[in-house]
Amino acid sequence: MGIKVCKFGGSSLADAVQIKKAQEIIQADPQRKFIVPSAPGKRNKEDQKITDLLYLCHAHAQQGIAFDEVFKLIADRYNQIVEELGLGVDMTPHLNKAQADIAAGASSDYAASRGEFLNGPIIADLLGFTFIDPAHVIFFDSHGKFDVEKTQQVLSKKLARVDNAVIPGFFGAMPNGEIKTFSRGGSDITGAIVARAANASVYENWTDVSGLLKTDPRIVDNPKTIDTITYKELRELAYMGASVMHEEAIFPVRIAGIPINIRNTNTPNDAGTMIVSDDDTSFESDSITGIAGRKDFSVIYIEKALMNLEIGFGRRLLEVLEDHQVSYEHMPSGIDTASVVIARTQLEGKLDEVLKDIEHNCKPDRISVFEDMALIATVGRGMNHIIGISGRLFTALGQAGVNVRMIDQGSSEMNIIVGVEGSDFEKAVHAIYNEFVE
Ligand code: ASP
Repeated sequence: MGIKVCKFGGSSLADAVQIKKAQEIIQADPQRKFIVPSAPGKRNKEDQKITDLLYLCHAHAQQGIAFDEVFKLIADRYNQIVEELGLGVDMTPHLNKAQADIAAGASSDYAASRGEFLNGPIIADLLGFTFIDPAHVIFFDSHGKFDVEKTQQVLSKKLARVDNAVIPGFFGAMPNGEIKTFSRGGSDITGAIVARAANASVYENWTDVSGLLKTDPRIVDNPKTIDTITYKELRELAYMGASVMHEEAIFPVRIAGIPINIRNTNTPNDAGTMIVSDDDTSFESDSITGIAGRKDFSVIYIEKALMNLEIGFGRRLLEVLEDHQVSYEHMPSGIDTASVVIARTQLEGKLDEVLKDIEHNCKPDRISVFEDMALIATVGRGMNHIIGISGRLFTALGQAGVNVRMIDQGSSEMNIIVGVEGSDFEKAVHAIYNEFVE
């Protein structure tokens, strides 16, 4: 029987009602053996996340300001959860210790980690699962870098010895025992690490949305959910601005070939999105997977007769960017033309100098700059074998009256990137979405 590792985000554990939903989900499937909780999150828009309150306590303590009142908000949240769930666990000693440690000058990582740490015994008690302190199984080296090997070794052994367990997310310990957290939202990372150590059949990431959306809901109303996406497609979409899981969270499960299933705690019957290995052929796609885009790019366009015969031209051009510490995104080129697409922020305060140096280094016939380009990536692993996708894409854009200023079919063959004027961005995303999804 496969093991499922379930990470529950802050909104899924924000109060007793939410925690009960998580409990039902866990108890509905005996494969759900290892649970990674976040700290209680916001119960409504105006509410505070426990993690943010803990950072605030730490900041106050550092400045010598009393933080009893803020800490009381935290203590009340946990005590209310315990009471409403009807549990016997006594949070007082845990809460007192956390407060005293913060007052005594504990680090901000320690303070923040208590949100997850304190949630652990509650969830463990509710489920009757073993509580595992991440400080004993998730390791960072003395420079604060996550120690993959040691963690994998110790954690996999520990998990093999228990039937089921609750392992709070977000933190671990350095060799001297000091607590260290991952970056914000880092319980996702813990979940992936636990999934790898348990050799899970799936890493379920329970949150408050029913998976990844096919495009940005700020542009298209109620976009459809992606059923299945490969890790590579996810990377392409994330790079182009789609907000997805932590890159670091994907890595441990990606190398282990474990799929991630993003699910909604509030609508547990929704299948959510499956993120699968790149060579998993059981999930064929007959259309596109998603559309993502970003605004605010500049394009430097260079023309020079016989550029194609000039050895070293590309190097000289890119050298200028390197000298100015400018990173570029794309460089589509023609026979006698080359353009470099660069995020506008990269060129701030440097554009004139960069152009001057390109003139000097490359001696172009013409150089011009277009400063308001948006890039839109249409991503789909099926693209390389479905005939006519690009035809449909450009027809849709043409019919919508969008002027395509640049085309770049990624070398991965699962991505067509078009550059359009910034003012056409939303219109173009709509046109592509309507053509392929609606
Ligand atoms: N509680 C932490 C945060 O708010 C980690 C997490 O929720 O994943 O960033």
